Amino acid sequence: MARTSGGKSAAGAAPLSEYRRKRDFSRTAEPSGEERAPTRGSRLHFVIQKHAASHLHFDLRIELDGVMKSWAVPKGPSLDPQVKRLAMEVEDHPISYNAFEGTIPRGQYGGGTVMLWDRGTYEPTGGGGADAVRRGYEKGRLEITMHGKRLLGDYALVRMRRDEGKPQWLLFKRTDEHADPKRDIVAETMTSVTTGRTMEQIASGRGRVWQSNRAPDASEPAAAHRAPGSRPVRRDTKKTSARKSAGRKSTAARRATTSRAKRTRKRA
Ligand code: MN
Repeated sequence: MARTSGGKSAAGAAPLSEYRRKRDFSRTAEPSGEERAPTRGSRLHFVIQKHAASHLHFDLRIELDGVMKSWAVPKGPSLDPQVKRLAMEVEDHPISYNAFEGTIPRGQYGGGTVMLWDRGTYEPTGGGGADAVRRGYEKGRLEITMHGKRLLGDYALVRMRRDEGKPQWLLFKRTDEHADPKRDIVAETMTSVTTGRTMEQIASGRGRVWQSNRAPDASEPAAAHRAPGSRPVRRDTKKTSARKSAGRKSTAARRATTSRAKRTRKRA
């Protein structure tokens, strides 16, 4: 496996080059990150995506210098300051990935279902803005305060070692009023923070790929308004309705629909 960035920003390499190299954007609805990220003031954003790929994990992404620094956390975050969770650093993602929820086609990099599990803003716990985050990242010790819907308060990310690949870090809660060893936030939070869907609902394609710039609170109309039991049973019915609604969809959503249809045909 290539190891271009190994935790350091590869001097000379374009930002997101590793992200782009791993993906075929004619097949996945994930953003290519080529569009400029909208300027949203001085606040730093974070997102956590629940990702059922070959292994279920949670992807923690924090904004820094125009990209999302990213870690795969197999067990997800904990509210217990005694519990340290392995966080494997992965390639930087585009900021537009913060709005991605949907299905990555099987056979593509990271193939599987992606749920927006939490999102919000964060800041370095001791203040100092992006400069402090950059210093902490380079030093291997990030102390950050989360302002999410589900994750709140102070967390630490501490780098352990660099093997031949990307560094491994530990993610853990710092003691504050939001710490709670009795709660299991991963087990109690099974739905999307933006669309309210379960992993199963996202995987079955109910509701469209969520990729708008609406406020995080906006509910997903396609998912919310679908009558219970209206899930199409016959394959040709599904195809027809997919075609009918294609006009309303963006290119990315249409691609996702097309690849779903292709897979359905392959299975048939
Ligand atoms: Mn992932």
